[in-house]
Amino acid sequence: MQEEIVKSERIKVVSEMAASVAHEIRNPLTVVRGFIQLLGTSGADEKRKEFYQKICLEELDRAQLIITDYLSLAKPEPDLIELIDMKDEMVYVSNVLSTYALYNNVQVHATSNDNVPVYIAGDRYKLRQALVNIGKNAIEAMSGGGELSFQLRQHTETAVVTVSDTGVGMTPEQLGRLGSPYFSTKNKGTGLGTMVSFSIIRNMDGKIDIQSEVGKGTVYYIAFPIKHKPDNIS
Ligand code: ADP
Ligand code: MG
Repeated sequence: MQEEIVKSERIKVVSEMAASVAHEIRNPLTVVRGFIQLLGTSGADEKRKEFYQKICLEELDRAQLIITDYLSLAKPEPDLIELIDMKDEMVYVSNVLSTYALYNNVQVHATSNDNVPVYIAGDRYKLRQALVNIGKNAIEAMSGGGELSFQLRQHTETAVVTVSDTGVGMTPEQLGRLGSPYFSTKNKGTGLGTMVSFSIIRNMDGKIDIQSEVGKGTVYYIAFPIKHKPDNIS
């Protein structure tokens, strides 16, 4: 019974996210359609055409940003539950982010306190999406450069991933709104990345705690229940 409830809760989250992404992408597409139509009508001078083109490109970029925040890495299929070595995923995500970090003058580190694999259960593609969104925000919070660190610590029954940045930080009010849809302080923000991350992490039975200080930076503590790999599986 409990499982049924969890399952229907998951379907609800997924369909709400799908509806939201469809809605958000429809807007830029409608704008692009309108301007392409205008481009096709005779009488527009070169300058005006250039302006229409610029808007089309900007709107397409926006659609792309929305898609990136939602599902650049996540597969559209339903959650696959597998054993994931958290350490591998942390290294993978820091590699994915390295170009973006370099471009923003940010150094990325990934460390763990010992060398054995740390297994958790979930869909690795979704977990990557969640961590990439959090890491992206961290990089975007350090426009003047800084440090982004991923750290993995293993407690008895939990694996704790710490994601910390030396960026602008958040006020308590901003922190309170973090994760609610469309909350963004950025010019071209979608306000969707954190919401997606939180829902992925919670679906994996993960717990999130965030500490942030304006002018100092932000630390995410993400805790997942550790799973033990049966001996007979290699
Ligand atoms: P977006 O990145 O498109 O703005 P998100 O949902 O990813 O949307 O983030 C929402 C807001 O939360 C950001 O606009 C920013 O104000 C704040 N935020 C998130 N992560 C951080 C961080 N590491 N440091 C400072 N502010 C952050
Ligand atoms: Mg973001």
